[in-house]
Amino acid sequence: MKDFLININGQIHNGPEARISVFDRGFLYGDSVYESTRTFNRKPFRIHQHIDRLFLSAEKISLLPTYSKEQILSEVLKTIKASPCSDLTIRIVLTRGTNTDLGLDTDLSGDNNLIIFTKEIKPNPAWWLTDGVSMIFYQKKIEVSGSLPKTGNYQENILGNREAHQQKAYDAFMINTFGFVTEGTTSNAWIIKDGTLYTPPLSDGVLDGLTRKTLFEMAKRQKLSLPLVEKRLTPEDFKNADECFITSTTRNIVPVTKIEERNIGPGIPGRITLELLRIYLEFVN
Ligand code: PLP
Repeated sequence: MKDFLININGQIHNGPEARISVFDRGFLYGDSVYESTRTFNRKPFRIHQHIDRLFLSAEKISLLPTYSKEQILSEVLKTIKASPCSDLTIRIVLTRGTNTDLGLDTDLSGDNNLIIFTKEIKPNPAWWLTDGVSMIFYQKKIEVSGSLPKTGNYQENILGNREAHQQKAYDAFMINTFGFVTEGTTSNAWIIKDGTLYTPPLSDGVLDGLTRKTLFEMAKRQKLSLPLVEKRLTPEDFKNADECFITSTTRNIVPVTKIEERNIGPGIPGRITLELLRIYLEFVN
């Protein structure tokens, strides 16, 4: 916690000193939205898109922002400037506010609380690229449809991640109530099969990840060496893939080499995946 520099409603605190009210609705009910991004060369990555997605998530849960996009951007920049670290992970949390009493009624809440966490970003562990990571499948209980908001309620994702760790895997691919794979617990999911790159459609209950979006943008600009197709994918499609990987802003592209103890392809990071990572980093840098 001591590594964190945290901005709470415009005031910057060292991690251990950062405090928020127990009546905050994010704490009481997970009544908040959030974004995670990072810096490259001290510049926040796709920050306008992240703030736009924060506002879209807020709209989806009828959370009326009392901060403007410009105010949030300015607080993010202020926090980066205050940090001594060269490159950072950044989490922006916007809660519906502090309640004046216990109760769900949104009228009980005051102005939003805006919390911006920053911490030095560590390079991905080298073994992710030499060995790849292992995944399990986790069956979601709650039916969802459409692209997901990024809210403070990550209960199913937490349980999926916990189940994965209990089985000594890195993480879980979540399966929706219709039997289709959606995404990792904090990442988007991809497979390569017979020279085509596939990812599940947002309509299956997937977060519109900005790394995912970047790969679509790269495909549109003909930067990818293979076609990219959105398709409903089953656990069998994942198990029988030639290559598999996950994406997120803070981790870029991470090869998956094992699912439910079964090797994907020859069980080492795929050649196309590693090449995608190389051109992705070139593109975003
Ligand atoms: N899906 C979920 C559920 C996530 O929490 C995240 C990131 O935290 C992602 C996908 C990847 O999104 P992005 O590429 O914007 O980091």
